[in-house]
Amino acid sequence: MAGIYIHIPFCKQACHYCNFHFATSHRYKNELVQALLIELELRKAYLGPDATIETIYFGGGTPSLLTQAETMSIFDAVFKHYHTDLREVTFEANPDDLTAGYLEALSQTPVNRLSIGVQSFFEEDLRWMHRAHTRQQAENCIRMAMDTGFNHLTIDLIYGAPTTTDAMWQHNMQRAIELGIEHISAYALTVEDKTPLSKMIRTGQAQTVNADKSATQFVMMVKTLTEAGFEQYEISNFAKNRQYALHNTSYWQGVHYLGIGPSAHSYDGRSRCWNIANNRQYIKSVVNGIIPAESELLTTADRFNELIMTGLRTMWGVSLQALEQLDSSYATLFQQNIQKYISAGQMKLESGSCILTQEGKILADGIASDLFVLT
Ligand code: SF4
Repeated sequence: MAGIYIHIPFCKQACHYCNFHFATSHRYKNELVQALLIELELRKAYLGPDATIETIYFGGGTPSLLTQAETMSIFDAVFKHYHTDLREVTFEANPDDLTAGYLEALSQTPVNRLSIGVQSFFEEDLRWMHRAHTRQQAENCIRMAMDTGFNHLTIDLIYGAPTTTDAMWQHNMQRAIELGIEHISAYALTVEDKTPLSKMIRTGQAQTVNADKSATQFVMMVKTLTEAGFEQYEISNFAKNRQYALHNTSYWQGVHYLGIGPSAHSYDGRSRCWNIANNRQYIKSVVNGIIPAESELLTTADRFNELIMTGLRTMWGVSLQALEQLDSSYATLFQQNIQKYISAGQMKLESGSCILTQEGKILADGIASDLFVLT
């Protein structure tokens, strides 16, 4: 089992909080798509001769800026160079791109899961975030996607923004539930370096983000969504009817993946590599047959820490056996260090795995880093 991630590095406008790699100029879009096709061929051996691609994820940036022909050219290259047995093909999309015609065209491709960047059903939030769509476009595109036959829909929501009151956050979740969404990814607004938001806060043009408010809205979210029948299968991901996102779940389970496109990351079990985050340099290098990537070999301690970090965020937890197989002395240390969290009711042991309780989940990142071994 393996996956392919394809990064489409273009957006209509820059959302204030975003630190992903993208350009708002689409001048090099044709060349970039051609470069993606070349990279798919150049890297066909990366995952090894026996790899079968089961998931593909189009992320960005904004994949819904691709035409149907461009999307199909990428699929053609994947099918030509890789052995596939596709279970899930996810396509990130923004509401302003999802017209009835676009959805119809997309439904003719292998895409079987749409991930829609809704973020909020309030104009006030959307304006503050500098999103390119309106509340009405978000609602309409969800209905149209369902009418077009997309059964696997996920929406992204953001909580903790200065404009988002608790009542508005409650309404956002309620609206998603009423619309029949079966998968929600919800993230606390964070202020990342070098984003317009961090500059706006520094210069007093925007209010700072309140951590207490984010924590309150996180607790509201867990309660509301679990009462509505969702499972919190990862800290930020909720699914009804076991509609787990297979591609993202495979990241958390250590499945190997190949990342194509500028800034995309890859993992082959031993090392990680990442492509240059610059569209022009990426294109120039790839057309000359050179993959513009840097890589790092993972040590046992790196892999041990990653198992802890990703495992603790999921409802399946960290497998003690997997830790033991990686390094028995690290595993013994881990077993000693978790006792205080078990006593505090923040962690439990179940079926050979160490799992965070509801109280522990809110502290997940801090607990994980406390349990890391030194690299
Ligand atoms: S559309 Fe997505 S990738 Fe583009 S700027 Fe907004 S959040 Fe970032």
